[in-house]
Parts: sequence; structure tokens; C-alpha cells
Amino acid sequence: MGSFPCHRCGRVYSHYPSRQRHLKYECGKQPTFACAFENCAYKAKRKQTLKIHIINQHSGHKRKMMSEFLKKYI
Ligand SMILES: [Zn+2]
Ligand SMILES: [Zn+2]
Repeated sequence: MGSFPCHRCGRVYSHYPSRQRHLKYECGKQPTFACAFENCAYKAKRKQTLKIHIINQHSGHKRKMMSEFLKKYI
């Protein structure tokens, strides 16, 4: 099993692609995907994470709004 540490923050990944993804999308980055639901301050670094947040936290919202958001984010 390999070991690929991030030279910036020291996180260690066991797969090279995971570390590359981390470097490209996560390391040192501010969360860029903001939840656009009213009164929600949630921000995610990854689109997939935001999608999960929306599904988990906002499933009580109106269906139409939900589907519009998911269309936008998926
Ligand atoms: Zn890092
Ligand atoms: Zn939200």
C-alpha cells in the first residue's frame, strides 16, 4: 500500500489519485460550493458533498425547488 503525503498540509493518502484530487480541489481552498437555499450558510468544497447536504438537509423543501437545485448541482 502506498503512502502519498500532501506537501502542503501533511495529510496522507494511500492512493495517488486521491492526493492529486485533494491538491487540486481541497488543499488550501475555501469551500466553493455554497448552498443557495435561503437561510442556509452551508458551504462545501466538493459538489458531491453539497449534493448530499441538500438531499439530507433540505428534503423537506418544496419538491420543485429541490429538483431545480439538483439539476443545477449534479
Ligand atoms: Zn493538503
Ligand atoms: Zn443548505
